[in-house]
Amino acid sequence: MEQTLIILKPDAVSRGLSGEIIKRFEQAGLKIVAGRFQKVDRELAGKHYPADRESFLRGMGQKTLENYEKMGADPVKMLGSKDTLEIGKMIREWLIDYITSAPVLALVLEAPHAVELVRKIGGHTLPLLSPPGTIRGDFAYDSSFLANTAKRAIKNLVHASGSVEEAKYEIPLWFKASEIHAYERVEEKVMR
Ligand code: ADP
Ligand code: MG
Repeated sequence: MEQTLIILKPDAVSRGLSGEIIKRFEQAGLKIVAGRFQKVDRELAGKHYPADRESFLRGMGQKTLENYEKMGADPVKMLGSKDTLEIGKMIREWLIDYITSAPVLALVLEAPHAVELVRKIGGHTLPLLSPPGTIRGDFAYDSSFLANTAKRAIKNLVHASGSVEEAKYEIPLWFKASEIHAYERVEEKVMR
């Protein structure tokens, strides 16, 4: 069994997509073991998107550069840098603004291979590259180019832990052990 953290970001909640999104996870057999609807403060947001995780910052910078190249746009002209770390730090600030802007619904989901399963259902970080059938592909078309031109984070509806290691770091930030519940879903009997 694996657990993963999901956040229905402000765009998902304000677009009234919470039920639709949760349905997709539930129907794939992911079990809700914790949940809270809350406004996020900048302290939690800062820990959730850590300033010292260079691979995460550079990863976001890299996705931006790739998208800019595809669009034939000059990152230096538009963002003042083509350094993946510098761009990543800029995006982190926009991300903190985004996730603290309105309430979010945070969930812990559990299943065998939960991390991978949820990423597959959620889709690619860039909705534009996320295929139909995924949450991000079905409900959004945002791109780095659109987002960064407006100096904001990509609105892609859901956060999902990117690895088992990330899930183990993120879940305790959002939930105490006593808020995570154990119970059995009926499919578990069928799958045994
Ligand atoms: P994911 O959410 O798919 O795990 P990352 O962990 O790389 O993606 O990035 C975290 C979040 O930062 C993304 O979901 C998205 O909202 C935002 N983001 C990522 N890359 C960019 C970018 N190039 N420009 C603006 N926002 C971005
Ligand atoms: Mg991530």
